[in-house]
Amino acid sequence: MNTEGFRFDKDVLQTLTEFDRSKRMPHAIIIESPDAEKAAELAVFLSMYAVCGENEKPCGVCKNCRNAKNKAHADIAYPQLQAQKKAYTVEQMRELMKDASVTPPNDAGAKAYIFEHADERFTPLIQNTFLKLFEEPPQNVYFILLCKSAQSMLETILSRFTVLRVKGDESFDDETLQAAGAIVSGILESREYPLLKAAYSLDKDNYGKIIAAVKRSLRDALALLAGARPLGDKDTAQRLTGRLTRKKILDMMELCDSFDDKMKQNVNSNLLTTWLCGEFRRITWQR
Ligand SMILES: [Zn+2]
Repeated sequence: MNTEGFRFDKDVLQTLTEFDRSKRMPHAIIIESPDAEKAAELAVFLSMYAVCGENEKPCGVCKNCRNAKNKAHADIAYPQLQAQKKAYTVEQMRELMKDASVTPPNDAGAKAYIFEHADERFTPLIQNTFLKLFEEPPQNVYFILLCKSAQSMLETILSRFTVLRVKGDESFDDETLQAAGAIVSGILESREYPLLKAAYSLDKDNYGKIIAAVKRSLRDALALLAGARPLGDKDTAQRLTGRLTRKKILDMMELCDSFDDKMKQNVNSNLLTTWLCGEFRRITWQR
């Protein structure tokens, strides 16, 4: 599985890895997220997985993958609403289902249908009418529904789909961003003191948010290295990539996680922040 260029949360990545390991990607998936862009990104990845014919799926480089990524693959449809309609119509869905039963010519012999804003566009009538199809989809056909909230879908539909939840992006208050920014700058300083001083702001009440914001900067740096768009401050991400290798950034993200875990276990927080700074510096300067 090649996830380069994608930024998935830990739990999503874990689920994808499980699908991949068992060689069983579900044929009916609902992606639920408050963040439409992140949901769409996951849908694109799943559609690449569906049509890629390589051993390691998705390879990310074959023609099928590239077309899927550019939303330009002949066997991946993003059904749009008909003019003046606010929801899919029964006739439109019938047409689509007819189309779904024709075997596609791509290497994987698979088709995918990605329904954006499914919670608004699938009326209860449509959901009921096509229940049977969702239950027994034609071979190698994938249905991917994107929803803000899956709760608006019928219970009968929900029970037939695998629901993947994608968290929205954390929004941080100014104070948190400032504290995290000071830590990131401290990491890049050659002197030890600025980092220690910045990390001194971490206490039992606020460390979760601040470390999450530090992690976002690190994740942004990874995104930048992979040619993707950072979510937060681009300058910070650029400063990180100017100085750290991908491996070092990944090590630092792991370090943030273990700091988080240790704080939860109620270890002395002063000792822990000192340890954190030491580890950040060790990673930055190691060869
Ligand atoms: Zn491929």
